[in-house]
Amino acid sequence: MIPLLPTPIDEWPLHSEVRILVKRDDQTHPHVSGNKWRKLKYNLEAARNAGKTGLLTFGGAFSNHLSATAAAGQLLGWKTLGFVRGERHLPLNPTLSFAHSCGMEIRYLDRTTYRARCKGKDLENWESDFWILPEGGSNTLALNGCAELATECFDQLSQWPDYVCVAAGTGATAAGLVTGLPEQTQLLAFPVLKGDFMGQEIQNFLDQAGQSGRKNWQAIPDYHFGGYAKFNSDLIDFINQTKTLYGIPLDPVYTGKLFFGVADLLKKGFFPAGSTVLVIHTGGLQGIAGFKERFANLLT
Ligand SMILES: *Cc1c(COP(=O)(O)O)cnc(C)c1O
Repeated sequence: MIPLLPTPIDEWPLHSEVRILVKRDDQTHPHVSGNKWRKLKYNLEAARNAGKTGLLTFGGAFSNHLSATAAAGQLLGWKTLGFVRGERHLPLNPTLSFAHSCGMEIRYLDRTTYRARCKGKDLENWESDFWILPEGGSNTLALNGCAELATECFDQLSQWPDYVCVAAGTGATAAGLVTGLPEQTQLLAFPVLKGDFMGQEIQNFLDQAGQSGRKNWQAIPDYHFGGYAKFNSDLIDFINQTKTLYGIPLDPVYTGKLFFGVADLLKKGFFPAGSTVLVIHTGGLQGIAGFKERFANLLT
């Protein structure tokens, strides 16, 4: 599997006095995209070194991680098994249909069983052959790949940006970026879920990585739009406009909320004049097909 690295960095000319750059990690690989490729990289290496021939993981029915894992497994010639939260619905949605076409075996679990399996219960049958990836692919090895994303940006820009902005689901990508950034760069994590737990999640990942003392990051809790996969017409309009005006495709679950948040903070004067802000486009565009299927005609 050969990702296209380094992914380009584009200008997003929103402001005359603040330089906004976009790291186009949606262009890593057509099917193993964005942060999901970064998070898989060292897991795949460790899996190979451990002699595994399969990947086992977990996700919701529209999960970008499930889709990326299925594609990675196919490219490597490995078995893949996905435990999906909830009931089977036919026809399969575009995410699961793609995962299935890559050869992923999909098993549906009720919420209680799903949660237990995520914590490692009843996986004995698969442990010898399969590398077990947590939900979202978020573990300590995933952080290493995301730290590399930070240094890749430095190599391209020959300087560190003042701010790095990223969407947060589990917080592993944000934490990984922090471990790759110097203290002078502030990481802003934009949670796409409602609640005030993201700071703790990121701190937990930093603790696991032996980087407890890092202070150059914060969660920006104001742009979740009501919670995971929730949206309103402002968000949809913004996504459609950003595509038309700047040629940047965004999804409504992760990057749409991030970019909306960055544009709004910019309007409010959050970023000082003269600063450079790097926005990470973490991919996730595969999710758009499923969104369009459910909410016809909203996204252009
Ligand atoms: C999974 C995903 C995220 C969230 O990454 P975490 O490491 O779980 O915080 C952000 N953006 C996109 C596009 C994703 O698919």
